[in-house]
Amino acid sequence: MRAFPRPRIVVSKCLGFDSCRWNGAMIPDEFVGTLRRFVEFTAVCPELEIGLGVPRNPVRVVDAKGSLRLVQQGTERDVTEDMMRYADGLLSGLQPVDGFILKSRSPSCGIKDTRIYPGMEKVAAMRTSAGIFGAEVLRRFPSLAIEDEGRLINDRIRDHFLKRVFAFARFRELEPTARIRDLVQFQSENKLLLLAYSQKELRAMGHIAANKEGRPIEEVRDEYAKHLHKAMSRMPKDAANVNVLMHMLGFVSDGLSGDEKAFFLDTVQKYRLERLPLSVPLSLIRSWAIRFDQKYLLPQSFLEPYPDELNPVVGRGVARDLRP
Ligand code: SF4
Repeated sequence: MRAFPRPRIVVSKCLGFDSCRWNGAMIPDEFVGTLRRFVEFTAVCPELEIGLGVPRNPVRVVDAKGSLRLVQQGTERDVTEDMMRYADGLLSGLQPVDGFILKSRSPSCGIKDTRIYPGMEKVAAMRTSAGIFGAEVLRRFPSLAIEDEGRLINDRIRDHFLKRVFAFARFRELEPTARIRDLVQFQSENKLLLLAYSQKELRAMGHIAANKEGRPIEEVRDEYAKHLHKAMSRMPKDAANVNVLMHMLGFVSDGLSGDEKAFFLDTVQKYRLERLPLSVPLSLIRSWAIRFDQKYLLPQSFLEPYPDELNPVVGRGVARDLRP
């Protein structure tokens, strides 16, 4: 069995940790609940932290001539500066983390679908954007995995998020004392995962880890980490995943019957047509890697990038829109 690191994730407290919403409610989220066994959560409620109690009048984001302000309804209190001060204190002093899961649509925590109003009157929102705290998180940590619980319902977005936080956590656990040979091993075990994400970055990371110039290890680690985050910034395309699957088949195909190979190619085609999730052809390769004790494939994180328990239920993921 593969050992997994525990990613460190900052999460909005109202997603199952505390009844801290403006009306005293909590919004337990099934996925966040499942994740609790596998990650180290730091739960925060920015509105509580700036002294707005529970219950409280709700706040909204107002566009005041191009400047976004966080204003409490009823009291008309502008709490933007309080929120920015809190965000600065929290985010500057944060231990290294791998990602964030923030509450969708919240004027404080939202990351893209917060309603922006033209004023405090009863008017329709002008547009959507990030909330005040969420925008600061996005600005300070552009390379981390940052999502809201609403987007994580989508299987592909969730898979991408999980692949990133577990890869970042694997590297973070290595980082403080990593030697060149640790980087080379990390590169080797994550090679196929990175190949699916970005061939260009994979090549660059290979050069950095080889350290032919003999640079100080701290410099090498920093540069390698930057490229790891960059490599995994965009979701891999289906075609790239198919290339990796076909590449993996090459390592086990000598021991397979014609029917087994045909069955595998059929599942790959169904994945290409979005009739099966990636986990189906991957499970086949994994079982053959175990059967043939395939020493190159077995340690590859692409085979099992995060614990199986976090995989969406097959069928549920296929039925809904798979596109982010
Ligand atoms: S969305 Fe953010 S600020 Fe609002 S209750 Fe949840 S954690 Fe607190």
